[in-house]
Amino acid sequence: MSTVTNPSQPEHGWLCIAGLGPGDESLVTPAVSEALAQATDVVGYIPYVARVLARPGLTLHASDNRVEMDRARAALALAATGHKVVVVSSGDPGVFAMAAAVFEALEGQPHWQELDIRVLPGITAMLAAAAKAGAPLGHDFCAINLSDNLKPASLIEARVRAAAGADFAMAFYNPRSASRPDTFVRVLALLLKICGPDRLITFARAVSTPEERIRTVTLAQARPDMADMRTIVIVGNAATRQVGRFVYTPRSALAAASS
Ligand code: SAH
Repeated sequence: MSTVTNPSQPEHGWLCIAGLGPGDESLVTPAVSEALAQATDVVGYIPYVARVLARPGLTLHASDNRVEMDRARAALALAATGHKVVVVSSGDPGVFAMAAAVFEALEGQPHWQELDIRVLPGITAMLAAAAKAGAPLGHDFCAINLSDNLKPASLIEARVRAAAGADFAMAFYNPRSASRPDTFVRVLALLLKICGPDRLITFARAVSTPEERIRTVTLAQARPDMADMRTIVIVGNAATRQVGRFVYTPRSALAAASS
């Protein structure tokens, strides 16, 4: 990204869609820090924008949840008029976050498609949580968003059923909110039925923040209230086991394939 400006030329606007990582400052990548240092505008959901240090010359545009498309269009409009814009997400911007919303906003908008747009990856909650627990995602795994804002509950259950049936380890984002507590209750019941009572499940809350709590139990011991919206839930595969205070999934599935 060039910092050279020519006063006679209009400013060269750009848009970065950046991930701020799970919370701790040390987990923000240098590329994201550099983009924030060069930005004129930061756009995002209120708690994520709050993580960006205010400074002269930087305008913070914080908006409420569930207005992702308005936010994406506003960011593109700013970049199109010469602003240097960073759209911030927590974790990674491509994982249940703003990057897909910005590309959706580009559809049918050829003038915006020519803009200088970059996605800057971040450490997603699933990977930060797995690292704290040990290596529960050491073999094939999948990530499933349990929010039913943008998909029907029936599809969530179908995907959980397919993933558990294929013996993937699974990471669940957005496990639980006050407005839809039933989804997670049903998912836990489904997992218990398909995976059995001894399967390991890790609840990782507020990873890399002062409120962090990591807890691994069996599905028989798991309770819906062990998760809230700041929790990522990781369910192991059939081979996932504990070693000392760690939980890991072996790299080899050869024994499982031959049994
Ligand atoms: N783009 C983000 C995910 C946004 S969805 C990422 O890549 O991490 C929001 C969900 O992410 C939360 O409901 C929770 O399940 C998970 N999450 C985000 N930050 C977290 C953290 N520090 N600890 C545990 N889970 C987190």
